[in-house]
Amino acid sequence: MKQCYECKEVKELSEFYSNKARSDGVCSRCKACDKIRNKKYREEHKEYFMQKNAKYYQDNKIDHGKYMKTLREKAMEKSNSGLTTSGIHYHIKQIKEKPEMCERCYKSKPLELASINHTYSLDPLEWIYLCRSCHIASDRK
Ligand SMILES: [Zn+2]
Ligand SMILES: [Zn+2]
Repeated sequence: MKQCYECKEVKELSEFYSNKARSDGVCSRCKACDKIRNKKYREEHKEYFMQKNAKYYQDNKIDHGKYMKTLREKAMEKSNSGLTTSGIHYHIKQIKEKPEMCERCYKSKPLELASINHTYSLDPLEWIYLCRSCHIASDRK
């Protein structure tokens, strides 16, 4: 027989979980108390995770429109920074969403980024995604 540390009831040793680390070979809490304790722990744990999740979604909630605007503003700021063509392409690709098909013929791909007025501006509105043949045709103008 053993007295439970938690509920102070004297119970059979079979009412305690075995614990090799302890001199008497069983836990100081009876099984009933251990269950209550575990349940409580799980509930606290659950709440902790729920809070953590809520915070995660809050932190990662991206306002897409605002995000695009910020990118565009950032790109505009750099417009006089003397970027290389590939550097400009890289920035436009970050900002401008790539369509499924060529924005001129709506038939072909793969798509290439083309500067509409050959300005090589960092303004995404100055760029268009074209297929190879439309790109060549536009460059001839
Ligand atoms: Zn107990
Ligand atoms: Zn095309």
